Amino acid sequence: MDMKKRIAIDMDEVMADTGVRLMDLCNEFCNEEEPLTVTTLRGKRLAEIRPAFAEAIHTHLADTQFFRDLPVIEDSQRVIRKLHRHYDIFIATAAMEVPASFTAKYEWLEEHFPFLAKKNYVFCGDKSIIRADYLIDDNPRQLRSFQGEGLLYDAPHNDIETEFPRMNSWEDVERYFFE
Ligand SMILES: [Mg+2]
Repeated sequence: MDMKKRIAIDMDEVMADTGVRLMDLCNEFCNEEEPLTVTTLRGKRLAEIRPAFAEAIHTHLADTQFFRDLPVIEDSQRVIRKLHRHYDIFIATAAMEVPASFTAKYEWLEEHFPFLAKKNYVFCGDKSIIRADYLIDDNPRQLRSFQGEGLLYDAPHNDIETEFPRMNSWEDVERYFFE
C-alpha cells in the first residue's frame, strides 16, 4: 500500500494571523505615537515591549470569538490544498493553552480549509505526541519535542532561532516540498 507521508501543521501564526491581530489590538489599546509594525516587532515579544498590554492579551485570547475571525495567512490555503494531494495533512494546534478557543478554531478550519477532513484536526497540548514526518510550527519549543522533521514558520518572536529550516512564507513551504 502506498503510504503518504504526514505533515502536521500548526494554526496560530502559521495558518491564522494571530500575531498581527494582537499587534493591531495592542496599537489600539496603547495608542502610542509610533504604533508597532511587523518590522518594529521583529525579534521581540509583544508582552515585553508593551507590558501595559500584557494583561489584555489574555483577555483577548479568552474571548470565545477571538480565534473565529482571524485573517488567513497569505498563500496558506493554496499551498495546503496542493500539499493535501500528495501528503496526509493534520492540523496540530496547542488549543489546550486556550480552552475557550476550541469551537472558534474548529469553525475557522471548517470555513477556510473545507477540503481537510475533520478527523485530521488535532487539538492538543504537547506536540511530542504527534506522529508525523514533518511539523510546520512557529514555536521552536514544539519543534524541539517533535520526533520528525521540524520546519520553523517565521514569526517576529522566533527571529533568533537557527536550529530549523526557516519558512518565511507559504511560498517557501511550497518550494521546500515541491522543488
Ligand atoms: Mg503557532
